[in-house]
Amino acid sequence: MVNYDKLIFEISREGRIGYSLPKPFATEYTLNDVNPRHMRDETPKLPEVSELDVLRHYSNISQKNFGVETGFYPLGSCTMKYNPKINDEIAGNEAFRNIHPLQPASTVQGWMKIYDELQKALGELTGLSAFSLNPYAGAHGELAGLMIMKAYHEKRGDYKRTKVIVPDSAHGTNPASTAVCGMQVIEIKSNKHGRVDLESLKASLTDEVAGMMLTNPNTLGIFESDICEITKLVHSVGGLMYYDGANLNAILGKARPMDMGFDIMHINLHKTFSTPHGGGGPGSGPVGVIDKLVEFLPNPRIKQLDGHFYLEESLEAIGRVSMFFGNSLVWLRAYAYILTLGKENLAKIGDFATLNANYIKELLKTEYFLPITGPCMHECVFDGLIDVSTGVRTLDVAKRLLDYGMHAPTIYFPLLFHQSIMIEPTETESKQTLDHFVEVMLEIAREAKENPERLKQAPLTTPVGRIDEVFAAKKMILTYKDYLEYLTQ
Ligand SMILES: *Cc1c(COP(=O)(O)O)cnc(C)c1O
Repeated sequence: MVNYDKLIFEISREGRIGYSLPKPFATEYTLNDVNPRHMRDETPKLPEVSELDVLRHYSNISQKNFGVETGFYPLGSCTMKYNPKINDEIAGNEAFRNIHPLQPASTVQGWMKIYDELQKALGELTGLSAFSLNPYAGAHGELAGLMIMKAYHEKRGDYKRTKVIVPDSAHGTNPASTAVCGMQVIEIKSNKHGRVDLESLKASLTDEVAGMMLTNPNTLGIFESDICEITKLVHSVGGLMYYDGANLNAILGKARPMDMGFDIMHINLHKTFSTPHGGGGPGSGPVGVIDKLVEFLPNPRIKQLDGHFYLEESLEAIGRVSMFFGNSLVWLRAYAYILTLGKENLAKIGDFATLNANYIKELLKTEYFLPITGPCMHECVFDGLIDVSTGVRTLDVAKRLLDYGMHAPTIYFPLLFHQSIMIEPTETESKQTLDHFVEVMLEIAREAKENPERLKQAPLTTPVGRIDEVFAAKKMILTYKDYLEYLTQ
């Protein structure tokens, strides 16, 4: 019996063939016509396998994968909601799929209309005047947004504004984008309620502040109830407010970032507007702005005149941020999602996402330490098990969840606590799923008291057990050759 869990190279048998290629199409060319510079010195080392070998190998490893479609996936801050199949079906339609980005605008009017309607819908949901759909992901939208912030100040000749205020609870991409944009981060503290500390904010306000980045609800799942005061303070010293829209799911259709005083934002379409994500993509991070910043949006912009769409390059723009127009099939999914749900149903997303997170929070707080009490928004954060005497840590709890067929929540983020467990159930989970998750989490708390050693060895049922995560991230083994080298070390 062949073990199909093996690497495809290990299944390989010399001379076995799994393909049959037609004769070369252009027979007038022979190998002699190929520039020797482009010729290989030796045949590439490829696995020699039958079609059935390949099929079984990949079917087997696909079954070891975990996704929203295999089980509960409460990964905090990532909004792992169900992505309706109709969106994929539409994005897979060849009328959309086969369009080339270099086609003349006159032949892609329908596409340009979708771009325009989606950016308008995002504008309506957030209150902002215009969106560019060009950035490829949330972090990329942040960078584009900060470049707009910088361009705005520089256009007014205000070159000393190089500092960006970021709360200590922020997602790591916020300070990273600030640094990539050539600006400096001023970190400010959260207060004991998990919100921005107003005194700390006031102390950091100077005429060197370009702006402030904030997500609301913040990464603790707490709504910044002082938000209007915060945006007023930053505006009062000439700074702009940047909204990290990754948590938009919590307030969608209920509250608009513009009404809170934000000037620039990005939206993670792949999170809030349902594109399968994880494993690195694909994403889309539209960047939106208020009226006075529209001229800085990235090129190209899609404009309309007498019912005809055309592309425009503006000199004031921050330039291009993507090869063409961004990840078009991700916007198409978002567009389909918005249209299928409609305004009324979009507004229910926040309700259910918030209800589900609070339900879990209330039921787990007897065993898991809740550092910030009171209602949360779409996600809740615990600081490990209450009973620390067992030595069982958040990592062990997360690993044990895998044995129960669930994805672990986000752990050790936010950095404010030492044993963070950040749970975001999303609106698409049923009460039965949430009840089952709670039951499992309480069972793990019991196991921690009764058999802590076992928990420290979890997961016990997955194809691989505990991996050295630092090693796996720092020394990637991406080819069979790397693997062989690794084995001989
Ligand atoms: C996911 C996330 C980001 C970054 O978005 P990407 O699309 O992964 O680049 C930024 N901020 C917060 C709060 C997030 O959850």
